[in-house]
Amino acid sequence: MESSKIWLSSPHMGGSEQKFIKEAFDTNWVAPLGPNVNGLENDIDRYLLNQSHVSVLNSGTAAIHLGLILLGIKPDDEVICQSFTFAASANPILYLRAIPVFIDSELDTWNLCPIALEEAIVDRIEKRKTPKAIIAVHLYGVPYQIEAVRAVANKYSIPILEDSAEALGSSYKGQKCGTFGDIGVLSFNGNKIITTSGGGALVSKTKGQKDKAVFLATQSRDFAPHYEHSEIGYNYRMSNICAGIGRGQMEVLDSRVALRRKIHKFYITLFKEIPGVTVFSVPNEDYFANYWLSTIIIDPLKTNGITRETLRLTFEEDNIESRPLWKPMHLQVIFQSYPYYGNKIAETLFENGLCLPSGSNLSEQECERIAAVVSKVFKVELFKVVV
Ligand SMILES: *Cc1c(COP(=O)(O)O)cnc(C)c1O
Repeated sequence: MESSKIWLSSPHMGGSEQKFIKEAFDTNWVAPLGPNVNGLENDIDRYLLNQSHVSVLNSGTAAIHLGLILLGIKPDDEVICQSFTFAASANPILYLRAIPVFIDSELDTWNLCPIALEEAIVDRIEKRKTPKAIIAVHLYGVPYQIEAVRAVANKYSIPILEDSAEALGSSYKGQKCGTFGDIGVLSFNGNKIITTSGGGALVSKTKGQKDKAVFLATQSRDFAPHYEHSEIGYNYRMSNICAGIGRGQMEVLDSRVALRRKIHKFYITLFKEIPGVTVFSVPNEDYFANYWLSTIIIDPLKTNGITRETLRLTFEEDNIESRPLWKPMHLQVIFQSYPYYGNKIAETLFENGLCLPSGSNLSEQECERIAAVVSKVFKVELFKVVV
């Protein structure tokens, strides 16, 4: 019999989600508005320590799209974007017919390299014009170099759109991710740290920005008894049913972060004695990561030729999902023709890196199966796994 599938990251309900959904049904708020929508926004506001005004939407991608609109991005504007990320960070630049300019990562956080960032800005100013926004990402839940990136952004007066889709629950020097950008973005997709089955949020600094986001997300209807439109609108609002799931999930967010961090510790122990394998971790104590996904880098020169593909395929044989790191955007067919500044850091990470099963609902038996594959591949003795 084939063993059951171990997923990279799967939904993990807390228990009270159905109570919120039932309330929505009982009161007939089955629509993209209602008490759960406002309730979830308040829950997230509170979680971010009331530093922001949150609007919940039907995806993180929608939040990035509206975020760029709020930052005034127009056709032919240049928008800087971290290359090492999921395509959803960059696609909305093209929705707006703007031009993405991709930047490499640095090795401490795997995120936007502040040096390459500044080189790019200087060069873009010389060649064409000042970029209009910087999309910085906290990949795998590890905060980017907050201060260095902010310093460059401020020096050239360019706003930051903070893609915190993978980093709800992470923080830097005690401040929550999602609150560092001029605009922040969260995702509640099914594979994220908490989920609304599909959804996202825009985190803005003022009530005015929030109101504008909600206006755009609900078809930009002007104030009139009939349907009057003076701006192009979108259908991006989160439904009251999905928001109900989100309210249940917010109750368990801190425990989900703790569980993911425990999985990360398990991998640190598992790979400790294996030369050539590094578990990606925060550079110092200022950084607090939710470790949405635990990831490793395998150096085949130090593992007798064992590569991340060797490990991935052996996991696959045992029905365990693992996945290469994000393929950088400047290498993707859809983005190849746009400018790129960097030094192959993201490319090398992509070649040698692997995401490991990291769900907060991973069981002890599943961890033992993962450990068994690792011991088989690297020919090390299996130790008793304590998660
Ligand atoms: C998931 C994700 C998004 C998009 O969020 P959706 O809710 O799936 O639209 C954007 N950026 C990054 C880095 C992500 O991981």
